[in-house]
Amino acid sequence: MYEKEELIRFVQEAKKYGHQGKVASYIPALGKANPNDLSIAIYMPDGRIIDAGDVTVKVTLQSISKIIALALVIMDHGEKEVFKKVGMEPTGDPFHSIAKLEETQPTKPLNPMINAGALAVTHMISGRTVKERLQRLISFVRKLAGNPTISYSQEVAQSEFETAFLNRSLCYFLRQHNIINEDVEDLMELYTKQCAIEMTCIDLARIGLVFAMDGRDPFTEEEIMPLDVARICKTFMVTCGMYNASGEFAIKIGIPAKSGVSGGILASVPKRCGIGIFGPALDDKGNSLTGIKLLEFLSKTYSLSIF
Ligand code: GLN
Repeated sequence: MYEKEELIRFVQEAKKYGHQGKVASYIPALGKANPNDLSIAIYMPDGRIIDAGDVTVKVTLQSISKIIALALVIMDHGEKEVFKKVGMEPTGDPFHSIAKLEETQPTKPLNPMINAGALAVTHMISGRTVKERLQRLISFVRKLAGNPTISYSQEVAQSEFETAFLNRSLCYFLRQHNIINEDVEDLMELYTKQCAIEMTCIDLARIGLVFAMDGRDPFTEEEIMPLDVARICKTFMVTCGMYNASGEFAIKIGIPAKSGVSGGILASVPKRCGIGIFGPALDDKGNSLTGIKLLEFLSKTYSLSIF
């Protein structure tokens, strides 16, 4: 199962759809990506890695970071406290939508995967300063990926910080409603650096594997996060991980996954493997077009759907 030659063929096949997609440019630094890139790594519990494409290219996490920040804050504060500030329901709206915020009673973002909910989650990362909170998050990411060299891209963080007007407006709304109570610029600094944490597809796949193994490091057996936390995160991956395309993704592919506008996808096949993908050509919902095609081939060939 998972033959390298076959994976290379799938990558070539999926790349043919790339021309239908576009690289994200609302964060100017992301606009530099090559829409023809497509790489994948599959990490197995026995340590085997199968990859195709240039897996040394680094990808910024963007929205993939939301799932990791969520795990950290549930560990920091417990499930009950976290879900006082953010809901558990999917929305049919784009990830940056502001539309439903006023409709929900009591006022709180519908889930932690839309930007409003993710900002509320990032706000909850414990620590005295932005620097300390970022450091805690990065240490957690390093542990999940088993890679102590992971850091963030100063260029991408800065580029988003300078242009994130809509996210700032979401923060002000959250502050007005006492969901956050910190300085908006501080939160934006932390959030944009969180989104700019960068790694290779192999690192992504390894994090996917930890989720697949219910929060345990498959090689040391260490519990990196409690089973309950891993379960909550994987459930959000299924219900809201691919933004407002999560329903179709669940039907066609059926694997817990989280995407980012950089073109990254982290997928987690329970007990079987973690998958990391980088394909910056995006569809109109902001998901990697070629990445989804690739996952579709894999899911069909190896019956990976959890349903
Ligand atoms: N940093 C991005 C933003 O907030 C993340 C969004 C995404 O990947 N969908 O706009």
